[in-house]
This record gives sequence, C-alpha cells and structure tokens, in this order.
Amino acid sequence: MDKNSSPIGSFIRKLFGRNRQPSASKASPPKSGPLLISEEIHRIPRRLLNDAAMKTAYHLQDEGYEGYLVGGCIRDLLMDKHPKDFDVATNATPEQAHAIFRRSRLIGRRFKLLHVRFGRDMIEVATFRASHDSQPKNEDGEHGRQNDSGMIVRDNVYGTIEEDALRRDFTVNALYYCPKDHCVYDFTNGFNDLQNRTLRMIGDPDSRYREDPVRMLRAARFAAKLGFTIEPATEAPLYELGYLLKDIAPARLFDEVLKIFQSGHGIESFHQFRKYGLLEHVFRQTAECLDDPQGEPVEQLILNALQNTDRRLQQNKSVTPAFLFAALLWYPMQRRMAQLQKNEAMHTVPAMHEAANQVIAQQIRQTAIPRRFSTPIREIWELQFRLPRRQGKRASRLMEHPRFRAAYDLLMLRENSGENLEGLGKWWTDYQAQNPQIRSHMSRDVPKDEAPKRRRRRRSPSKKPEQNNG
Ligand code: ATP
Ligand code: MG
Repeated sequence: MDKNSSPIGSFIRKLFGRNRQPSASKASPPKSGPLLISEEIHRIPRRLLNDAAMKTAYHLQDEGYEGYLVGGCIRDLLMDKHPKDFDVATNATPEQAHAIFRRSRLIGRRFKLLHVRFGRDMIEVATFRASHDSQPKNEDGEHGRQNDSGMIVRDNVYGTIEEDALRRDFTVNALYYCPKDHCVYDFTNGFNDLQNRTLRMIGDPDSRYREDPVRMLRAARFAAKLGFTIEPATEAPLYELGYLLKDIAPARLFDEVLKIFQSGHGIESFHQFRKYGLLEHVFRQTAECLDDPQGEPVEQLILNALQNTDRRLQQNKSVTPAFLFAALLWYPMQRRMAQLQKNEAMHTVPAMHEAANQVIAQQIRQTAIPRRFSTPIREIWELQFRLPRRQGKRASRLMEHPRFRAAYDLLMLRENSGENLEGLGKWWTDYQAQNPQIRSHMSRDVPKDEAPKRRRRRRSPSKKPEQNNG
C-alpha cells in the first residue's frame, strides 16, 4: 500500500488539513512542517509517559526552548510496549540546557549530551542535530566530522527539529511528543510506517548505512523486536554492507551485541543476523562453525542459549554477557582446543586454556569483552571439564564455585542440544535436588576417574592476557 494513501494517513491529513507529506525516502526537508497527530489519534495514555522526561521537556519549553520526548520511547508507546528509556530532544545547546537543570551533567565528545537527574530517573537530553552535508569530509571540524568512507566520527552539528528528524535512523524512530499540546510531530511519515509495521530508513539507505554501519545492526534488531518488515530499499544494502562494521570501535559493538541478544528478542534477532550475513561481522568464529558444523550441534546450542536468555528476561531474571559469550564461542573454543591437542600434542587443561586465550583474543578484535566478563567466560568453560569429575567431596566443592550455576546451565544446553555427555547434565540436576546425605551417596557412587595423566608442561606461544578491552 502506498504509504500516503492508507486510510489512517488520509484521515489524519483531513483532520489537520494537510496534504503535502515530506518524502521519507528522499530526506528532503519538509516544506510544510510536520504532520501533527493528536491525542485522539495516537492514543498514548498520559499515565505511561515518564514523569521525569515530561518534566524535563516541559521545563525546557518554559525556559523558552523547544523540548520533546523522542525516539524509541514514542515508538514503543505507540506499539503498546514498555519503553526501555525516555529521551528528550531540544534546540537548547547542551551547555544552555545544563544551565537550567540543577542536577545535570554534560557527557560525551563524539556526541555531546546532557544527563538530567530526577530522583532515581536519569533523562538524556540531546540537542537537535543537523546533517553533515554542509561540512567538507575529513575537515577536522570542531563540531562534525566524517572519514573517507563517509562514516560520521563526530556528531555535534546542531540544527532545527526538522533537521534533527531527518538525521535519525528509521522513520518510526523520528516521532516527537510535545508535553504541552500532547501531539506527536511527524516529519518523516513515521506514524504511517508504524501503522503499516514497516521499518524504513530516512534518506538514502546506502549512504545512511555508510555514515554509521551500526544502523545495519539496529535494522536487524528493530525488525526482530517490533516484528516489522524491512522496506525493500532499506533491506537491500543489509546483504552487501556488513563488512563496514570492521570500522566500528569494538567497545561500541559489544554494547550493540548486548542490546541485540539480551533484550528479549534474541532468537528472532539471530535469524535476522543469519539472513543478512551480519553474524560473521560480529562473531566471525561462531559464523565459521555454523557454516561448517563438523557434526557439532552449533546452531542448536546457540538457539537454545538465546531461548534461555529470552525466557529469563521475560521472567525478569538476570542475564549475564559472560554466559552468552561462553555459549556463542563454545564450539570455536572446542575446535581450537582439538587442533591444539592433535597438532601440538597438548593435554586437555593446557589446550583448553590456550584455546580460550586464542578465541577470546580473536573475538575482541570484533567486539570488546570487558575483563569482568572474559574471566567468567574462561571459568564457565573450564568448569565444563571439571563437572565430570565429581567423586568424593569434589561435587559439593564444585557447587560452591561462583560460576557453578552458569557452568551447569551451559552443560545442560550442550546436552539438550544433542551433545552426548552420558547423562552428566541429568546427574547434576538430580544432585542439586537432593539432601546432603543422598548427595554424598551419589558422589561416592560415581565411577573413579582414570588416574590423572602426568602433565608435560608446554610453553604456549600466546599466554599473554588479552589487551585492555574494557
Ligand atoms: P531502544 O532504546 O529500544 O533500544 P531506541 O530507538 O530508543 O531503541 P536508542 O539507541 O535509545 O534507540 O536511540 C534513541 C534514538 O536516537 C533513536 O530512536 C533514533 O531516533 C536515534 N538514534 C540512535 N542511534 C542512531 C543512529 N545510529 N543513527 C541515527 N539515529 C540514531
Ligand atoms: Mg532508547
């Protein structure tokens, strides 16, 4: 359906006497102002609007500036979802806004922002941004800067609300809510796209992805989270431009990966990633195992891990990046370990440590892994090799290990995904359910390990800990 001819669109235009729409796909500045969508039409219940965000926007307006709630929060409220956070946009510069909020703090360099504190709430206030078109590339602009491939490396070029709308990523993310008239202001036909469940890039998709390749990950994430169809012109470059993600700082990709896989829509996001070939640009080693599974249930393990994560989030339980990464990189680690054992005759434990080092070292070139997570990842892996050795007092000692729970969860995932662990997962499930007396019987009845082999110590080439990555 033509986006301008939907019944709701023409109804709104009739209601407000508007018939000229800004073209969302050309990003030309709107000629006749925004489409105003009144409260009777958008039906966002006032009680769901975050009080602190409303007060922030209201206060900006009282001080003579513009102030709106904007972005994901408005999109989510229009979809009856609970927003993760509320953002405010204004024409006040960060410094001007700072001057009118007592409890506020300026942050960021690449993208300057103001954090305003209201009790326990923290509201992010961003100044309207404009496009960088007026600024020559590579000029060490004080405010905005793009590199040779067109990627924006500094984004502090301020503009009007219209310009701000047009530099946002998707039309459904560019809706502004005014705290005074309670209307939604729409410069890019985002309301219509939202009604049609369409994800559409504002402007020319190819150059918008080049400006910021993370928008590709965002496209996959929103399509998964919202269940939207990605409009064809927005979708086409996703198959082609994934390689540009190599230019994104690993720390930023780490944050994005968590938003993608730990926001309750992990499974669907994973399918989107596979469809567009994006996984190899954030988890190359995992993508290689998936493409050549060599008999391991690689995909099943990942899907089970993501399902687990989605379920825990639904139940408001905590999730840790260490577990997610331990699962995603489990087969790459196993494979590396098998190679080290075969080619370099290394024993299990040193081979495991060396494989863990190598796999983590490769991964942090794509996504950083802060040390507070890389240490637990290693522990979760190491415990996979200790969980079978459970006779005598070992089992009860293992249970006290801070990573026992996560390690047991990974063990269960492996077993449930089809790895033959000879009932080890079930044994641990039963063990935990029993009282101390039965537990000690259980661990006594475990057949004894083979005598531990004498270890030949080998110096491994890359024993160095990974570089600072947090
Ligand atoms: P969620 O918070 O649910 O992850 P969101 O849309 O709110 O989704 P944020 O990262 O919080 O995402 O960004 C807030 C808004 O800032 C977005 O809605 C969008 O308008 C704009 N934005 C964020 N990242 C980009 C980007 N890379 N390029 C252009 N605009 C962006
Ligand atoms: Mg948000």
